[in-house]
Amino acid sequence: MIFQGAKKALVIGALLALAACAGKPIASVPAEERNAIEENLRRDIGILASDDFAGRKPGTLGEEKTVAFITEELMKAGLTSGTNDPGSAWRAPVQLVTTQPFTSSLVVRSGRRTFELGAEEAVAFTVRRRELVDGQPLVFVGKEAENIAAQDVAGKIVVMLGEPGVSPRRRAVLFEKRPAAIITVIEGPDAIARLNRAFGRERILLESEAQGSLSAFVTAPAMAKTMGERAWSRLTEAAEKEDFAPVTLEATAKIEATSQRREFTSYNVMGRLPGSRPGSGVIVLMGHWDHLGECGRESDEDRVCNGAVDNASGIAVMLELTRRLAASGPFERDIYVIATTAEEQGLLGARAFIQQPPVPLESIVAAFNFDTVAIAPAGSKVGFVGEGRTALDPLILEVMQQSGRELGDRDFAEQFVQRQDGWALLQDGVPAVFISTAFSSEIVLGPYLSTDYHKAGDEVEAVVLGGAIDDLLLHEELVRRFADTAQYSPPAAE
Ligand SMILES: [Zn+2]
Repeated sequence: MIFQGAKKALVIGALLALAACAGKPIASVPAEERNAIEENLRRDIGILASDDFAGRKPGTLGEEKTVAFITEELMKAGLTSGTNDPGSAWRAPVQLVTTQPFTSSLVVRSGRRTFELGAEEAVAFTVRRRELVDGQPLVFVGKEAENIAAQDVAGKIVVMLGEPGVSPRRRAVLFEKRPAAIITVIEGPDAIARLNRAFGRERILLESEAQGSLSAFVTAPAMAKTMGERAWSRLTEAAEKEDFAPVTLEATAKIEATSQRREFTSYNVMGRLPGSRPGSGVIVLMGHWDHLGECGRESDEDRVCNGAVDNASGIAVMLELTRRLAASGPFERDIYVIATTAEEQGLLGARAFIQQPPVPLESIVAAFNFDTVAIAPAGSKVGFVGEGRTALDPLILEVMQQSGRELGDRDFAEQFVQRQDGWALLQDGVPAVFISTAFSSEIVLGPYLSTDYHKAGDEVEAVVLGGAIDDLLLHEELVRRFADTAQYSPPAAE
C-alpha cells in the first residue's frame, strides 16, 4: 500500500475492540481446508518476505527472485502467460527510471540587476539528467492554475504562489500548459529545507512520465529582493483580487538542475486462466509484488523492509485463490492474474498495465485488488474500498450477505481508494474494487499503520491470517459469480 502524507491523520485507536469483532467464521468451509489454505499462505509470505528477497525493490535481485517465484507458482497452478506477447511470456516490461536530485542553480535578472540566489533562497529539481532554461521571461500567475490560458505561459517561466504542501496539483495543471519552468514561491529557508527532504531523495518514476518538468522553489524574501519590495507586494496583493490576470514581469531567469538518473526495466507478471467462452469478458485479479527494499536508518541492524503484510500477503492470497480457481474451473470468462511492480512508488505498474493492457480495457468486467490483507482475525467485518464507484456493487453486496459477511466502516475504507492499485484502473473507467477485512475499521488497521507499516518490522511472524483466509474465500465466490455470464453482465457502453 502506498504512503500518502495527507491521509496520515488516522487517530490510532485502542486494540481492545479487536476481540469483539471475531466470532463469525465462514461456516461452509471445513476447518481442515482453512488450515491447508493457512499453511500455503504462511509458506508463500515466508518466502516473499524472507531477507533473501531483500524487500522486493524494483530493479534489484530481489525483483528477479520475486518475479521468478510468482511466475513459477502461476505455471504450477496451470495458467498460461497473460502478457499476450510471445516475445515476453509472463513478464510485461515496465520501463522505469530512478532519479535523485543532484545540483541546482538559479539566477534572476531583473531590470539591470542580476541576482544569484543562494541555497537557502532557492532550489530547483529535474527528473532528467540535466535541464536548463535561460533568458525566458517570468510570468506571475498568483494562485491561479486552471484559469490561466496556455498562450500566456507556454515557453515562459511561471511564477506561482505556493501554499502549505507546496501545491503539487496546481503545479501539475500549470505544467500541462507547457511553460519552460515553474517557480513556486514559498515562505522561507525552513520551507527549502523541507523541500530538500521531500524531493531530495531517490524516486522511481515511469520513464514515459519522467520527462522534462523543471521545477524551482524560491523564498518570498528572495522574490521581494529580486523584484523590489514594493513591486512584489503589489503583485501578491493583486493575486488576492477577483479580477486577477497573469502579469509578465520585467525579469528573466536562468535555472539549471541536474539529477542522477538510471533507466531500468521492471516487470508486471501476468498469467491467464482461459475461460470457456472466449470474448465474454475478463476478470482481473491484481496485487503488487514490490516493496521498499532496504529502509530504516543506516545504523539499524535489520534494514530490510520485508513487506510481509504489504504486500507479500496480498500476493500469497492471490496465488492461493488462483490455485483453487484453476482446480475448480473452467469459468466462462478469462481470469487474468496480474502481479504489479512499483506500486509503492505511485501505482506505477498498474498504470503501465493501463497504458499497455494485454486485453482491451473495455473487456475487463471486474478487477479485484489484493493489498495488505493479513491484519484482521477470522470473522471480521469487511472493508470495501471503491464502493459506490462501479456497477459491481449490487452483486458484491449480495455475495457478501449470502456469505454472512458484514460491511465495515465505510468512511474508513473510503480513505484508501487512491492508495491502492485499483485506483489506476478506476481512473480509466475500469471497474476495480479492493475488498478486505484489513480495511474494515481503524481499530483493525490503525495499530499496523502506526507500528510495522513501511518499517523493518513488517515480517512474517506478525501476520494475522484469519481475515486473509476469509478474504480469499469471499473472493473465490465473487470470481465464480462475476466470471459467469448468466450471473453478471456489465452495463452496455454509452
Ligand atoms: Zn506500501
